Amino acid sequence: MDTLQTKISDITNVIKTITTKNVDNIDDCKQLKCLLHMTERIISILDNELTNLSQLKLKTMSKLSEKVQEIKPILEHAEQQFMIKYSNSQPKLIKQPTFVNKIDIDIGNGIIIPSQLFAKKENIPIMSYGSIIQNGRPLVVFRYSQNNYVSCTASQISDFNNITDNFRTICCVNNQNCEYGQNCKYFHDPLVWPETNHIQKFMKTSMIKKCAYFGHAPFFNEHKKILTFEQAKTLARYCAYMMLLLGQLC
Ligand SMILES: [Zn+2]
Repeated sequence: MDTLQTKISDITNVIKTITTKNVDNIDDCKQLKCLLHMTERIISILDNELTNLSQLKLKTMSKLSEKVQEIKPILEHAEQQFMIKYSNSQPKLIKQPTFVNKIDIDIGNGIIIPSQLFAKKENIPIMSYGSIIQNGRPLVVFRYSQNNYVSCTASQISDFNNITDNFRTICCVNNQNCEYGQNCKYFHDPLVWPETNHIQKFMKTSMIKKCAYFGHAPFFNEHKKILTFEQAKTLARYCAYMMLLLGQLC
């Protein structure tokens, strides 16, 4: 614990040294550039470590929640016995929280989505996003209705020239028993195939002026810098309308 304290203190000291610098008093371009480089480097390292820590926290909480579930009957039994012996009131049930925590999730290509983690997908409110742990990894899910869910993972956006461009766009309908496995030309949703390595593909859109490839995951962080919500409003309206209607399908 002492070693940990020392290490944290070292990191804090480095950050303090940098943040106490008064930029108003630095006129030398080389020094300013150096300071900028150091700041960016530290932010990048901290961002990375923060994501790692969040992932670790998530996995630990999920494992703990699993273990608590295992001993829950014993705990409830013990509590019941205690209540019967010492009180006339009805024993209280231990309520399992429907969500565990808020977490930043990388859905692919460094696209970070702040999400709420739920113990299971059935706890996600209808017409809402949430995340669950699957195979030890967080997965962002959208719940359309009582029984309908889709996963949200990074996508590639392509031109649509011919039928072969449809590769990995349409979802595979061979629920779990697909004979083609990873080689299937249809998209295997990780919600159905947790082991899948498929990357979903969609077609370019004409709904955002000058940004037809919006949604192409490797470009997203760049698009985010140049695109405003206002510019993407047509697509936003289309998505909201379609989602509303999709939610009505059972
Ligand atoms: Zn398939």
